[in-house]
Amino acid sequence: MSTKYVYTFGNGQAEGRADMKNLLGGKGANLAEMNLIGLPVPAGFTITTEVCTIYNQQGKEAVVKLIESDVKAGIAHMEKIMNAKFGSKGEAFPLMVSVRSGARVSMPGMMDTVLNLGLNDDAVKLLAEKSGNPRFAWDSYRRFIQMYGDVVMGVSAAKGEHNPFEVEIDKLKAIKNITNDTDFTIEDLQILVGNFKQVVKDKTGRDFPTCPWEQLWGAICAVFDSWMTERAVLYRQLNQIPEEWGTAVNVQSMVYGNMGNNSATGVAFSRDAATGEDIFNGEYLINAQGEDVVAGIRTPQEITIEGSRRWAKLQSISEEERKTKYPSLEEAMPGAYAELNSVQEKLENHFHDMQDMEFTIQDGKLWMLQTRNGKRTGAAMVKMAVDMLKQGMIDEKTALLRLEPAKLDELLHPVFDKVAQSKAKVLTKGLPASPGAACGRVVFFADEAEEWKNKGEKVILVRLETSPEDLRGMHVSEGILTARGGMTSHAAVVARGMGKCCVSGAGDINVDYHKRQFTVKGTMIKEGDWISLNGSTGEVYLGKVATVAASLDEDFKAIMDLAEKYTRMYVRTNADTPNDAKAARNFGAKGVGLCRTEHMFFEGDRIDAMREMILSDTEEGRRTALAKILPMQRGDFEGILEAMDGLGVTIRLLDPPLHEFTPNEPSSQQEMATKLNISVEEVKQKVDALHEFNPMLGHRGCRLGITYPEITEMQARAIIEAACNLKMKGLNPKPEIMVPLVGEVKELKMQVDIIRKTAELVFSEKGVRVEFMVGTMIEIPRAAITADEIAEVAEFFSFGTNDLTQMTFGYSRDDVGKFLPTYLKKGILKADPFAVLDQVGVGRMVKMGAQLGRKTNPNIKLGICGEHGGEPSSVIFCDAVGMNYISCSPFRVPIARVAAAQAAIMHTEK
Ligand code: PEP
Ligand code: MG
Repeated sequence: MSTKYVYTFGNGQAEGRADMKNLLGGKGANLAEMNLIGLPVPAGFTITTEVCTIYNQQGKEAVVKLIESDVKAGIAHMEKIMNAKFGSKGEAFPLMVSVRSGARVSMPGMMDTVLNLGLNDDAVKLLAEKSGNPRFAWDSYRRFIQMYGDVVMGVSAAKGEHNPFEVEIDKLKAIKNITNDTDFTIEDLQILVGNFKQVVKDKTGRDFPTCPWEQLWGAICAVFDSWMTERAVLYRQLNQIPEEWGTAVNVQSMVYGNMGNNSATGVAFSRDAATGEDIFNGEYLINAQGEDVVAGIRTPQEITIEGSRRWAKLQSISEEERKTKYPSLEEAMPGAYAELNSVQEKLENHFHDMQDMEFTIQDGKLWMLQTRNGKRTGAAMVKMAVDMLKQGMIDEKTALLRLEPAKLDELLHPVFDKVAQSKAKVLTKGLPASPGAACGRVVFFADEAEEWKNKGEKVILVRLETSPEDLRGMHVSEGILTARGGMTSHAAVVARGMGKCCVSGAGDINVDYHKRQFTVKGTMIKEGDWISLNGSTGEVYLGKVATVAASLDEDFKAIMDLAEKYTRMYVRTNADTPNDAKAARNFGAKGVGLCRTEHMFFEGDRIDAMREMILSDTEEGRRTALAKILPMQRGDFEGILEAMDGLGVTIRLLDPPLHEFTPNEPSSQQEMATKLNISVEEVKQKVDALHEFNPMLGHRGCRLGITYPEITEMQARAIIEAACNLKMKGLNPKPEIMVPLVGEVKELKMQVDIIRKTAELVFSEKGVRVEFMVGTMIEIPRAAITADEIAEVAEFFSFGTNDLTQMTFGYSRDDVGKFLPTYLKKGILKADPFAVLDQVGVGRMVKMGAQLGRKTNPNIKLGICGEHGGEPSSVIFCDAVGMNYISCSPFRVPIARVAAAQAAIMHTEK
């Protein structure tokens, strides 16, 4: 059977379908589907993602040979439907095409697009003649040279410079004394075409290609090449999109939004992507082509009257001025608007999700160019899921599965303190492109944003407009401010996707990249100055404005209730203080999965008692220091057990790499010497003696309790005494004592012995008993391999996947940063294994540990407390392994709860 590489669509027919996204990419699959449901879509064809893979492996020649006849047939199919001819010599209307990428999931602004392909010096004349609109023909031609020159031939702007084509446009505008592209005459456009060709020749040394077929293959290959560009690779890394997915290529007949004032182009959303409100919205430009709307060069107009009025209010524009200068599509082209409105309703009902659509109106007729499930902010994601559930559009499980758990994080971020905000000086106002509160120091270049961030600075990236090259800089910035561009500009769309605060189109700011400053109505802001952005109102403030924690709304609660209904695993938190425990309980944590007792010594002068213990040579000396530590620990444990009253609290015995606690600085050595009444020399000698070459594999974890049993004794006493005290107050404490870094069952046995003996002693002293459990971490490969033996002694296992990853891979947790970026870049690793559980290797250890543990102790309780416990894909793995619970940091509890519910739904449906 021969493989099909090209799928055609057009005229209400299509070879593909919406559920063929893997093969046709999101765009191609939905273009096919829109045809099938009777929407107006220009004819075209999709080259499959499989061809992209072949291209990457075998190169251009092989691919051209493989699909040449299919592509020719595809063009013939378009020619027939559109009644036009590709490379027409005058015998028919010339067929022009767009060439666009389309991966399985949308990668906004990441992949390249070429419009008006097929134009050359002959075709432009023909187009002018046959369309009766020479202005439009020449406008299309100059756009084509610019786009093709940029995307296929690599003619683009150097850092800090303007795009060379834009420079030509600006020069000509200055000469002709005009401000808008639409003011160019036919002759102006002809001059631009000549100048653009010269730009291409100057920059590349090559002539602009005139053969349409050469143009087509150039564009197809450029789309495939764009899959491997640095920015695409980065986007995939950030969004965990596998490289082998590849992109499809969509070749589609052009329809023209630049045919005159009865033509337009725009983007529309069936709901508000920033807030989630069920309001149809979008932007359009009259007499323009697609890229103009997102490029932020002209200010687009709103589609609906309602949106247009809201926009005018934000810009302090009167109703009169709005109506005449910036009318909505609803007012300017009521017929096309009505059709678009019914299309958006049809699409949302068909796909049961918010749609992000691109359309063009050619001479009054509406054409749909794309639809996809729209990107949205975390808040919009939650609101849409809850609203669509209420509207009966989706069921409960779909509402949950629809969520991207990690995005819930945005809802927990701080917002501006109302009082501080009311006192702050408003510098200017732009569009509320992506909500949130951001404070940072102004930088103007994306690469410098990264440099500043690496130095520990918080930055706000300020640009005239952003482009895909700015992606890295946007990612590290607290927020983004642009002078140009609307709600669908690159900055706005990408920021929303990242959940980053963004104010776009702040037209009053004058950015001077050379002087590294911007001015607003006489105020000058220099690089490094602090500003604050309110992405929900579009306000820009001078200086730092204080923030407060976000309050969670009814929709968020509704989602959490749903998660509760469907989850199988419960979610605990990693917390070392009563405050963290309380915060996590408010987010729905059902207990503490890890309390790291060594973290309790960083406050005040507690570290002194700890150092005294570490530096003691004798058991007696250590016991004296431990006696000082005991009441501190007991107090902490009481606080946490009380905050989690009635719920399990796993307290781990001391696990410090000792070097983290020794006094290493001369001043602290002096201080310790005075406190211990010994010489500095002696302190120094002791510190040297404690030095380890590999502290992560050194004297830590239970090895400490084995060499100094008095430490375990003290900690067990502190825990049990805390629990007894609370019990006597009528509370219900449920401590679970956890032994770290066990690799051999005898280690655990010895520690359990001490713990149980100490507990009995405390019970008899206090005259009261409490239930408690003793278990261990599984974080050393040997523990996972011998889990059956260990489970005979442990009542629970908590998988410490941080250390388990460290020791399974042999990557130092502290040094992995040195080579990880290379490993990611070279594709050896798909993700940082310390963030996303390596299911193939480390996951196998976990699975083995769980299975062996259950073999000898069927009732053993299993959980995870490594960083992976709050990472959605790892949570799904934990559910598959059958863990009882997962534990993560307080702010990730909601994320873990939703991921756990999703996992349960997915696994029961399987
Ligand atoms: C672990 O190793 O996964 C763990 C939770 O312990 P720590 O991070 O404290 O070493
Ligand atoms: Mg560990």
